[in-house]
Formats: sequence, C-alpha cells, structure tokens
Amino acid sequence: MASNNSNEKNILVLNCGSSSLKFAVINSESTDLLLSGIAERLNQSDASITTKINGTKNTEALGEMNSHLHAIKQVGHQLKLNGLIDTIYAVGHRVVHGGESFTQSVLIDQDVINAIQETSGLAPLHNPANLTGIKAATELFPNLPQIAVFDTAFHQTMPEHAYLYAIDKTLYQQHGIRRYGFHGTSHYFVSREAANVLNKPIEQTSVITVHLGNGCSICAVENGQSVDTSLGLTPVEGLVMGTRSGDVDPGLIIYLQSQHQYSTEDIDELLNKKSGLLGLSQISNDCRTLEEALDSDNEATQKQAQLALDVFCYRVSKYVASYTCALSHLDAIVFTGGIGENSDYIRKTVVERLNLMGLFVDEQKNIQARFGQGGEIQSENSNVKILVVPTNEELVIAQDAARLASAQVTN
Ligand code: ADP
Repeated sequence: MASNNSNEKNILVLNCGSSSLKFAVINSESTDLLLSGIAERLNQSDASITTKINGTKNTEALGEMNSHLHAIKQVGHQLKLNGLIDTIYAVGHRVVHGGESFTQSVLIDQDVINAIQETSGLAPLHNPANLTGIKAATELFPNLPQIAVFDTAFHQTMPEHAYLYAIDKTLYQQHGIRRYGFHGTSHYFVSREAANVLNKPIEQTSVITVHLGNGCSICAVENGQSVDTSLGLTPVEGLVMGTRSGDVDPGLIIYLQSQHQYSTEDIDELLNKKSGLLGLSQISNDCRTLEEALDSDNEATQKQAQLALDVFCYRVSKYVASYTCALSHLDAIVFTGGIGENSDYIRKTVVERLNLMGLFVDEQKNIQARFGQGGEIQSENSNVKILVVPTNEELVIAQDAARLASAQVTN
C-alpha cells in the first residue's frame, strides 16, 4: 500500500508535454517516490496511461477520453485507488520557458499564467502544453496550491557576456532574443549533490555539469550558480542530442533556404527531429542502440554508429574544455542524464580528449558507476574529480512546491 502519514508533504508532480503527461507523487521530506507514470499519445485514439506503483506497472487505454484533462482525471483516480488522494499537499508543474520573468519557482496565480503565456513564443511546443496541464490540474484540484518550476530559472544568474548573442542588440531589447538555457532543475540538483559528495559548501563549489539524455546540455556552475550553459534561446544550441543538431553555422539556414528551397517548417524538422545522433548515424537517436551497433557484423552499420558517437563525444569534450574559462576553479566534472549516468563508453571517450587538462578516468570505477549507482570515477593521477550523479528533476519540483506551499500557509 502506497499511502502514508497524511501530515507528510506528498507532492503531485506534473510534466505536461504536447502529447504526453508524466506524473509522480513524491514525498518531499523522505524523497520517496510513491507513484509514477506516463500518459502517451494524448489527443489520439490510441492514447494510453501507464501507472507504476510498488514496482508494478499497469497500462490502460484512454479511448475517447484522451485529452490532457482526461489524463489528469485518470491520475486523480489512481491517487484515490491507492489511498493517496487526501495526502497531496500541492501540485508542482514543470514549465519549460520562464523567459526573464522567472528567476525561481513560483506559486501560480493569474499573473503567472499570463507571463507563461507571453513567453510561449519562445517555446511554442512546450509552454502551451505546460499551461494545459496547469489549467487541468487547477480545475481538478481547486483547493491545492499549484507551483510552477521553470527549466530556465537556474540559468538566470548567467552574466551578460554569456547570455548575449553577438547580433544587433536591439533584438534582445525588443524581443528578448538571448541565451536562456534549459535543464535548469537537473543542473541545479546534480551540482548540489556533487557538493555533498565533495563535502564542500555549495557556495564554494564550482563544477561543470554534463547532462546527457535525449536532450543534452552542459553547465558551468560557479560557487553554486549557473554562469554558462550550452542550450540557448531554444533547446537546439550546443551539444549533439538524440535528434537535435546542437551548434551549426547559422549560415546553413540561409543556404538551405536560398539554394535548396527549405521552408521554415523544413528547417525546424531538420534541426529538431532529423539531426543529432539519428541524423548522423541514420540508425537511431538512441545512444544504447548505437553502442550495440558498434559490435555489428555489418561494417557499414558499425561505421555509421561510430561516426555519430565520435561527433557526439568530441562536442562534449570541446564544451567541457571551453567551460573552464567560465570558472575561477574546478572541483569536479559531473556526468548525469540517461547517457551520462549509464554509458561508461561515452564518459571514457569524452574524458580521453581531456587528458591534456589532467583529467583521467579509472576504467574499473567508470564501469562500476553504471546502473544508476553514481560515484567518483577519476583515476589517482587525475587533477580534477569526475563524478557520476543520477539526476532527479521531479524531486527538485516536489521540494520547491512543498516549500512554496508551506510559505503560503505560514503567510
Ligand atoms: P530524456 O532526456 O528523455 O529524459 P534520458 O535521460 O532517459 O532521456 O536518456 C535517454 C538516453 O539514455 C537514450 O539515448 C538512451 O539510449 C541512453 N541510455 C540509457 N541507458 C543507457 C546505457 N546503459 N548505455 C548507453 N546509453 C544509455
């Protein structure tokens, strides 16, 4: 039975995408995950919802009831079935883009909803979906505080020289065109975890956090604050990702438009969906699949996978090296995300190109750090520590939501 003491702060965490809804109930004090799941292919006839509780998964078709609101109602039903509904203290929402309006998490009111709406132009796929989730949850749980936690907020400490593009400055002044960064909750969480491992106060801890999942980004964290990060105005800049290109020459876009009749939609499709590991390998966006393909009997397949992984790793190494110039000192490099936490091959290959900086991996420790265990993986002669830290973005959302909901009660 998942129910627990109703005095404890159980938070419903919602991460609403354009066609999916990820949800979790987390106890913000014990950090226990009490229930989790995902509703997929929303607004389509084959929509389904999968709930995981006590290690058991259950999937149900949503049929005609396939909207975000229906999915959140179904989450409410699961909370009731599992004796959790009356234990929920607040709802925490992941919101992708907070622009310059939000430097931290906030309690949601109409002004906040308007500001998220105004920022939607910068995240047209994500922010409207996040708002749908907020509206549905407010309708369903009208008495619970709703809190927004932004992917961009942690990076609002970046200095001007890191966040400005070298383009006509009036574009920043008039349209907010600048670098914002994403994955903020992950970089925030793993930098704090790293400080714990290093046994140093976060205010004195400087690390480079490397988040490698389907989306990838890197962050220079100086004494606990983000001072540079690789994703920019949109989540395309920087590292090579599953299907996103990362850095390309902006002239490429002009060239494709003028010489090959690419439309805006074609360019969007190319850079967001057909690039990255998938575009380079022509096999898969999935790192594990590509690592398996390295052992393929088919030489062409093996070469294509190798090339994609080489470009991926080289870009990460290049960014780690360049981010040392954002920091006054470097306590550790921290790997996280599905790839960063699980792939000893990627970590080893990235660090091999950093030997000149005095970074070295211990082969055995690197292999042992697989399977979500984390730990230190540097060798004895390494100048800098190298850590593997499992990320937990949902926990950050739950803890921020609990804190802000408590503050509201206290006030
Ligand atoms: P998201 O950004 O969607 O949250 P994740 O952080 O879960 O994604 O990362 C997904 C990536 O992690 C995929 O490319 C997957 O192949 C990779 N991955 C997971 N486990 C392993 C593994 N054991 N070895 C290599 N790659 C892995």
